[in-house]
Amino acid sequence: MFADVIVDIAHSQVDKIFEYKIGCDGVFVGSRVRVPFGKYFVEGIVIKVKESSEYPSEKIKEISSVLEETPALTNETLAMADYITSNCYVTKAAALRLFLPVEMRKGKVREQFTKIISLADGINVDETILLLRKSAVKQRDLLLFLSEEGEQTVTVLNEKFGNGAVKTLLSRGVLLERLEKRFRSPYKELNADRKQIELTEKQKIAIKSVENTDKTVSLIFGVTGSGKTEVYLELIDRAIRNGKSAIMLVPEIALTPQMLKQLRARFGEKAAILHSGLSAGERFDEWWRLRTGEAQIAIGARSAIFAPLSNVGIIIIDEEHDGSYVSESSPRYNTVEVATFRANLSGAKLVLGSATPSLESFLNAKRGDYNLIELPDRINKKPLPDVEIADMRKEIRRGNNSPFSSTLKYELEKCLSQGNQAMIFLNQRGYSKTVICTECGHVQKCTSCDVSLTYHKEENALLCHYCGAKYKMVDACTECGSRFIRYGGTGTERVVIELQKLFPNAKILRMDRDTTQNKEGHFNILNAFAERKADILVGTQMIAKGHDFPAVTLVGILDADMSLHFNDFRSAERTFQLLTQVAGRSGRDKQSGKVVLQTYSPDHHVLRQAISYDYEGFFNQEISIRKATAFPPFTDICRVLISAEDDEVALETTRSVFEELKKLYELNKDKFRFFGCMKAPIKRLQNKFRYQVLMRFDKGDKPLIDNIYQLSSKFNGRNVLVSLEINPTNLN
Ligand code: ADP
Ligand code: ZN
Ligand code: ZN
Repeated sequence: MFADVIVDIAHSQVDKIFEYKIGCDGVFVGSRVRVPFGKYFVEGIVIKVKESSEYPSEKIKEISSVLEETPALTNETLAMADYITSNCYVTKAAALRLFLPVEMRKGKVREQFTKIISLADGINVDETILLLRKSAVKQRDLLLFLSEEGEQTVTVLNEKFGNGAVKTLLSRGVLLERLEKRFRSPYKELNADRKQIELTEKQKIAIKSVENTDKTVSLIFGVTGSGKTEVYLELIDRAIRNGKSAIMLVPEIALTPQMLKQLRARFGEKAAILHSGLSAGERFDEWWRLRTGEAQIAIGARSAIFAPLSNVGIIIIDEEHDGSYVSESSPRYNTVEVATFRANLSGAKLVLGSATPSLESFLNAKRGDYNLIELPDRINKKPLPDVEIADMRKEIRRGNNSPFSSTLKYELEKCLSQGNQAMIFLNQRGYSKTVICTECGHVQKCTSCDVSLTYHKEENALLCHYCGAKYKMVDACTECGSRFIRYGGTGTERVVIELQKLFPNAKILRMDRDTTQNKEGHFNILNAFAERKADILVGTQMIAKGHDFPAVTLVGILDADMSLHFNDFRSAERTFQLLTQVAGRSGRDKQSGKVVLQTYSPDHHVLRQAISYDYEGFFNQEISIRKATAFPPFTDICRVLISAEDDEVALETTRSVFEELKKLYELNKDKFRFFGCMKAPIKRLQNKFRYQVLMRFDKGDKPLIDNIYQLSSKFNGRNVLVSLEINPTNLN
């Protein structure tokens, strides 16, 4: 017998299938194996087992060993890996890696076992005790204990009776030990009771609609608090009862402890959590629980779409519009697309849920490609919170230079005096966005990137938010020596300091990337706030997602238009989504909520539509703009990015790539809506100079994209990286 093997080396030169002889048992399709490769041994995955080979037998080497008894990959996950290879333009090895926990590939973590001790068969405890020496009290107690308990782990017994007693009785054959596989399970502390609720009529209709539609994809368009989560849970429950498995994706799992709590409460050990915040051992074990069928529900961020489940019945993507569902590093995949493929492959239903669906999904629903389900009302019938716009231009004219409008100050005072909680949102961490010299106008910049540095007061350092570099804070301008330095743009650190001045008695928490570095960071802050150990939570978009704090009656949005003026075709869409989401944090319980939105462009249509929760109005306006300007979802944006440390090399390669692609463009002019070559918006990043060839053409032209890939990727070299991005979330 022979096996086709993909070796675990993600290099284009070995991106092919290698044949090996099978000389041992247990080699199946999907098995991980160790094979000789050149002078070394490498790991690989068997993708096919066959009777014969076209090569002369003596030329084929033999598989050295099988790494696990159970094949790590299934036919289903292998088919998905093929899909990733051909749609994300990566090597087969790189695609396969998505389906394996890192820990497993590096062989760093092994399964853990617990030693369990019990009485050996046929042992009569009373008779045995009579045979013991009088002084062997511990042995006696141990025997009595086990005759009561039946069995116990060796750790507990050693603690209670000392390991001498345990060892002696084991050696005499009175006790028996066996190994039991142990799973390290994360978030043990998350134990909520399951809320018993009766689904509303609308929720029941939504569930039936997902189950009965002949369409693979259903889009649940429901405002925050409309009961979407309950619908997801019920759908998962039904799938499990039908003997199927389920996948539930959330944007950033560390940020959604509530969702985890609910899943745990309802499904207990049937649910396994996959995410990068777990310890290596936990992740490895959760993965195996899914692979072996011990757990049937995979919960996680985008990469959980690659969960090793068989027989998937339902896939749920919550907050489907969220940017985190598009992977920004290779393999660059779009989770909704991969999920659609997986659902079709295994005959599952895919449910996308959002209060602000992506334009693309809503367009698909309108066109009838998706099954559209609407949940327009909040469960508690509470109206969505009132939004008041604070015009910051007027504030400045009035001489108010603080980050807070008078309206927000007034509302904060009221909220706190009533004993309620407030959340303050702004999308800038650190103290100030930039540090500027007032004499010569020089802005402190990163030496490896073409971007300005952010001042972090706690660290008293200047940080590059793009490459992470840290610089000493300056006390004079590095250009002219002037000591007059101004802080431009407010960050979360500064907001906390200013708020504390205004409300000396208020307890304030801050949540941003700097305060949530360790595994439990998010958890601790959110828990403290939920337990009302603080009055105000200041944060970046981390605080915008799904949290449900009943005592929050005020949300302040400090820089509503910051993301509006980004040079990105999606900025209006993102702003609308973010504002709606943040506003949704207020007034979720009995008391009604209030939102104060500060802006320099109070008349912008996106803000107007966001404050009146007019998604459809926003959709109609934005989609017609996209159509008129030939942007996604009507076209695909394709960017070939060229980067190199040497500017000359980058430029030379860019010219070659451009010349090559230009030929393609000339031949297909009717297909292209845009074709151009230029510096990337951030000209230098992490010491690399960056150029791009930017293209737009009608959506879904796979042969054209294949062609672009083939023509451009051949310019990849040792000193230059040429990469292809299709509809990237970030066009920096
Ligand atoms: P969404 O996911 O749309 O934001 P949730 O499912 O979290 O909404 O529901 C909002 C709140 O309403 C939650 O506290 C939830 O427990 C509650 N809820 C949901 N469905 C029902 C129901 N049928 N009866 C009573 N309460 C419900
Ligand atoms: Zn200066
Ligand atoms: Zn940098």
